[in-house]
Amino acid sequence: MTENWTEFGDRIFVRRFSSPFDLNVGLVVGGAGALVVDTRTNPAEARALRKEIRKVTALPVGWVFNTHEHWDHTFGNQEFSTARIWAHVACRERMEEDGEQARKRVIGYYPDDPAYQEVIITPPAETFADTASLDLGDRTVDFAFYGLGHTTNDAVLHVEGVTFAGDLVEDGNAPSFDDSYPVAWVETIGRLAEAARPIVIPGHGGPVDPDYLVMSRFDLAWIVRTARAGIERGTAVEDLALDGAPYPEEPVRLALSRAYAELEPRTLGS
Ligand SMILES: [Zn+2]
Repeated sequence: MTENWTEFGDRIFVRRFSSPFDLNVGLVVGGAGALVVDTRTNPAEARALRKEIRKVTALPVGWVFNTHEHWDHTFGNQEFSTARIWAHVACRERMEEDGEQARKRVIGYYPDDPAYQEVIITPPAETFADTASLDLGDRTVDFAFYGLGHTTNDAVLHVEGVTFAGDLVEDGNAPSFDDSYPVAWVETIGRLAEAARPIVIPGHGGPVDPDYLVMSRFDLAWIVRTARAGIERGTAVEDLALDGAPYPEEPVRLALSRAYAELEPRTLGS
């Protein structure tokens, strides 16, 4: 339809922003307005996004859906002031508790970029815990939470043949484990693989399919299996052998340390 947006289903668009972070933004157009999935990393980028949305539809943006709290998905929220912003309830809590700290961290990463000084933390006004459905006029989108994973608050959006999976799914690179719960993530991605539509749009990178989620689950299962065995033997994370590891060493060690943190209280308590 345009050189920028790819239409993956009837009025279901994705704009892949190679810079920064190969981030995917979704756009679902309904009879009563448009819904945007994630708002990019800062207000200037969000303003550019709004211009791109105008190439696809003249309808107002009535809704935003944040896949999770992370700044590269939410720091453009303020530019969608006419929209109702939806996300998982823990996304709102985290943005209220940690948003200002996150903003300071990001300004620290990019001290010379004024775009981040402009950020006003804008948490979602509308939240759900398990599932919710939204009427866009002549079609419905469904939100769902499948459990802890990349963060405490990863939510997905299903619309017809497409699932927007946020950072629960990563195309190409290792997933980002900084705020993750790898042990829970294995189960979460299994449930998501069952529910996912034929086309799955990750938070970053190209589209995948439900089989890719099953493969991703094997990778996460390696992390969990290795962490369990390491805890049983009393091996420190930095001493674990990484033969057969699914990702490079740095993300693997981070994932293993997150898995240790998840498993150890339980192990000690039993
Ligand atoms: Zn993320």
